[in-house]
Amino acid sequence: MLISNNILSENYTYSTTIYIPMPFTPFHLGFAWPVFMLKKRKFHFMCLSFGAMIPDIEIFPLLPSSMSLGYARGPLHSLLGALTIDILIVFIIAYFFVPPIGRWFKRHTKEKIHIFAGVDVTKAPTDPMWALASAGIGTLSHVIFDIFTHHFNPIFWPYTNMNVSWLIFGPTFTSSLIFMIPFGIIILSMLLLYWTKPHRPKL
Ligand SMILES: [Zn+2]
Repeated sequence: MLISNNILSENYTYSTTIYIPMPFTPFHLGFAWPVFMLKKRKFHFMCLSFGAMIPDIEIFPLLPSSMSLGYARGPLHSLLGALTIDILIVFIIAYFFVPPIGRWFKRHTKEKIHIFAGVDVTKAPTDPMWALASAGIGTLSHVIFDIFTHHFNPIFWPYTNMNVSWLIFGPTFTSSLIFMIPFGIIILSMLLLYWTKPHRPKL
């Protein structure tokens, strides 16, 4: 669309001068992990965690055809993509990749790195509906939080490529920082609290 191209060009000129998009991907765990703790026997840790990060796998493949890192967002950053292909990718990882890797670690190390808050997080989901809920909450939360931290989000793709971006402090690094700082503190605190604890299966 010509109109949106013009708008994009203007934003691009503007953004390259004062806004450097930063990798925000792991910070999305700062939302996913507290959600997991709400019902840790029901929610699936890996579906939530990968769900919260998976949309960003499209950034590097899209980069050559995008104007900048900040604009390298497409179908995986849309609401439709979050509820379809993103969840499919998360399921493939959670059901087929994580369990064998977890078994390998359990065979080769005595460290209980597969335990988070007393839960073996490398096991495949046993309840598909909770797995679906976990993956969906993760992927949707990513797409929604990006609206407040990134300046290009085609969340209504394929209906329209219209950008939806509500940066609290405009296209500046501060807009990302106000999410990165609290989410970073949550992630570090939860790692110290739950990932470094000795294995206590009954907890
Ligand atoms: Zn993203």
